[in-house]
Amino acid sequence: MFRALVVEKDEAGATSAGVQMLDDSRLPAGDVTVAVEWSTLNYKDGLCLGSGGGMVRAWPHVPGIDFAGTVESSDDPRYKPGDRVVLTGWRVGESWWGGFAEKARVKADWLVPLPEGLSTRQAMAVGTAGFTAMLSVMALEDHGLTPALGEVLVTGAAGGVGSVAVALLAERGYAVAAVTGRPETEPYLRDLGASRIVPREELAETVKKPLESEVWAGCIDNVGGPMLARLLGQMKSDCSVASVGLAGGADLPAKVTPFILRGVNLLGINSVFVPYAKRVTAWNRIATELPMAKLEAMVKECALGDLPDLGRAILKGAVQGRVVVDVR
Ligand code: NDP
Repeated sequence: MFRALVVEKDEAGATSAGVQMLDDSRLPAGDVTVAVEWSTLNYKDGLCLGSGGGMVRAWPHVPGIDFAGTVESSDDPRYKPGDRVVLTGWRVGESWWGGFAEKARVKADWLVPLPEGLSTRQAMAVGTAGFTAMLSVMALEDHGLTPALGEVLVTGAAGGVGSVAVALLAERGYAVAAVTGRPETEPYLRDLGASRIVPREELAETVKKPLESEVWAGCIDNVGGPMLARLLGQMKSDCSVASVGLAGGADLPAKVTPFILRGVNLLGINSVFVPYAKRVTAWNRIATELPMAKLEAMVKECALGDLPDLGRAILKGAVQGRVVVDVR
């Protein structure tokens, strides 16, 4: 038997979540069974803890898009009992049972060996949010970003992806401007390495002039919607925006002018289906480049039973930094 946070759906279509004891026979088919030690809370988990947001197709469901733990048994030669592993993406926690449980059974292809020097708790302090922040930094640098080019903007900065992005960029020597709608997070963002705080209202207005003054050498955007449209017109020539999220909306009410007159690039970031070699690179860079003291400053711990409330909070943009879930 193992403990799991189970979401159920009643005949009227309402969902409810609670901790239950489940028999091992309930685990899905898969080739590696992992004793989960830590999981974490991402925006998507907020959706999967509630209605499912169109991502969950079958109930009862165990959410949790990330987990880290120790292999308990494996039918795959790449993993053996005792190996420490981390999983993000592959629709685990959405269309597959996820990490909000003491045990998870998954495909070996989806796992990554935990890099040297990273604990399972630290890996989950990073989670999909931090992994995505690293993928964004990699994409921007692959497209020519260097600290010498100027300030890099991070939107939704006090959230999970934003917090890790600010810390990673600052550690690599970038001047980071952090957009936040929560002025009270300024000390937190400055401690992570932001050198400028941009109030959300400054970028909230929709595009009036397709091209404004050139300000940003790069951007990691977690917000989408009118804010992304607006900041495209403020990008320096030939610089890039990594489009990560839609916390402010999925529409993009933009002009093409920044693309065709300034050569601005809009780079899509998808953390879910990342080839193995790139995942290993990203995790190794996280283990060596992310300052662990800053990571610790972002983290709050919770238990499985706290997740339904925290899921509602993250959907309202009311969670600061990263939440790790102690599953042990
Ligand atoms: P969080 O909720 O932790 O952070 C989102 C932040 O966005 C909030 O903290 C808030 O920051 C800001 N925000 C919220 N609502 C609004 C709004 N209406 N207008 C402007 N800003 C807003 O979520 P995550 O960091 O986990 O994820 C961020 C986004 O990235 C989500 O949309 C998520 O779905 C997406 N995502 C995408 C991935 C991918 O593979 N592409 C992977 C992971 C996440 P502040 O308070 O500082 O303003």
